[in-house]
Amino acid sequence: MDVLIVGAGPTGLTLGIELARRGVDALVVERAEGLFPGSRGKGIQPRTQEVFDDLGVLDAIRAAGGPYPARMIWKDGERLGEQPMFEPVEADEGAPYTEPLMVAQWRTQEVLYARLVELGGRVDFGREVTGLEQDAEGASVRFADGTTVRALYVVAADGGRSAVRRAVGVGMAGETVDPSPFLVADVRVKGLDREYWHAFPGADGTGVALCPLAGTDVFQLAGKLAEGTEVDLSLDGIRKLVAARTHLDAEDVTELHWASEFRPRTGLADRFRVDRVFLAGDAAHVHSPAGGQGLNTSVQDAYNLGWKLGAVLRDGAPVSLLDTYEEERRPNAAAMLGLSTGVHRGEVQRGKATVQLGLGYPESSLSEETRAVPSEVRAGDRAPDGTVDGVRLFDAFRGPRWTLLALGAEVPSGVPEKVRVVSGPASGGYGTGLFLVRPDGYVGWAGKTAQGLTGYAARTGAFAAR
Ligand SMILES: Cc1cc2nc3c(=O)[nH]c(=O)nc-3n(C[C@H](O)[C@H](O)[C@H](O)COP(=O)(O)OP(=O)(O)OC[C@H]3O[C@@H](n4cnc5c(N)ncnc54)[C@H](O)[C@@H]3O)c2cc1C
Repeated sequence: MDVLIVGAGPTGLTLGIELARRGVDALVVERAEGLFPGSRGKGIQPRTQEVFDDLGVLDAIRAAGGPYPARMIWKDGERLGEQPMFEPVEADEGAPYTEPLMVAQWRTQEVLYARLVELGGRVDFGREVTGLEQDAEGASVRFADGTTVRALYVVAADGGRSAVRRAVGVGMAGETVDPSPFLVADVRVKGLDREYWHAFPGADGTGVALCPLAGTDVFQLAGKLAEGTEVDLSLDGIRKLVAARTHLDAEDVTELHWASEFRPRTGLADRFRVDRVFLAGDAAHVHSPAGGQGLNTSVQDAYNLGWKLGAVLRDGAPVSLLDTYEEERRPNAAAMLGLSTGVHRGEVQRGKATVQLGLGYPESSLSEETRAVPSEVRAGDRAPDGTVDGVRLFDAFRGPRWTLLALGAEVPSGVPEKVRVVSGPASGGYGTGLFLVRPDGYVGWAGKTAQGLTGYAARTGAFAAR
């Protein structure tokens, strides 16, 4: 087998889709008997919506959720007033999605799983990885049932407590963001409208909130409790908490579907790769859920790694391409940890910083800017949407391939057929020039003329095909 993906969370499922649509022989293995049942990562950021558009699941994701409601602040059973959730970000042609979507994580995972299966991918449920050894040719992964699987590459997408990360001896340094216990639970509640995200703050910084999960009849209860409080995750415990912290009665909580306790902390894996093993998603970084970055960053890890593994395994791209995964994603994750801690502590507002549209890889060895005077869009930037000669760019970028934009510039000869070419006049922030856009939607190479383009393509495998 080419790739064994450990864990069928958002990271493993996204990577599974990326590899399945590239014809890579991959298998996802999951310890649990089914998909995760809770709502925890419920914010799908605009950049992730773009990724989901490319993966062919955006319509299904939209149908599974909806927009975020405004927050309603309550005090002593009275409505104090509304508070917007986000600093507004303006849409423009280059960035069509600017607002996060609310989708319960279990629904996001259902949509991703359905897409994976549609593409011929597979998840083996009820298979827990317990150990791993690697050599020059591959890795042997051991399971709790005593079986082993051999793969060329292994991806640890097994969450914050990653067994694979431990098996390869990678440390995760970090710190506590907040010593208070937090809880999150999916509940059915009577007596609250579904128009608002209802917040019941206490005087001492503790409090609870009940958020109607779009597309479901369930609320997500989130609570911050006083330091030292024992958290009771039973239905009875949740009822007592709601009765104590809101104007609702205990019996108004009619059902408990899922509950979890956590203490926000940051952690960044020392390395994102050990030889043939890659770490992605929560296995590589953990942080406060404030700001809704975790699931999104995890999806983007998978999106970054997927096309690189596909290019090396299927198209004969140089193996060195795989080195750029850690080079690009670790600094990105480090910045996101700081951002999440900032939002948690109320120092950073949700909005421009959290939508993830400004993220890119300008410092990466995969980004080559050859123009003396670059336009607004430079190598390493997210390639914005737009329309060139009647072609919508996000339509052109969709699918597992590179795209060459020739804007007010001649299309060079020797570009292989598998690279999509779009040519036309100057467009938006691109201006004029040649732009080679990576399969994950970032500008890899930019030039006024084609000088240097084939060298870049050889180095990165952009024009490679077996
Ligand atoms: C309480 C809470 C609230 C959150 N709120 C938000 C939010 O609002 N917004 C946001 O973006 N993110 C949020 N997150 C974070 C988000 O849920 C995670 O970032 C996301 O789930 C990470 O995806 P993942 O696939 O990397 O890991 P996970 O979702 O943890 O998936 C890992 C999978 O691996 C499986 N597994 C584990 N060990 C093994 C093994 N040994 N063998 C086989 N399989 C194994 C697990 O069963 C699991 O299915 C929250 C997280 C928590 C805990």
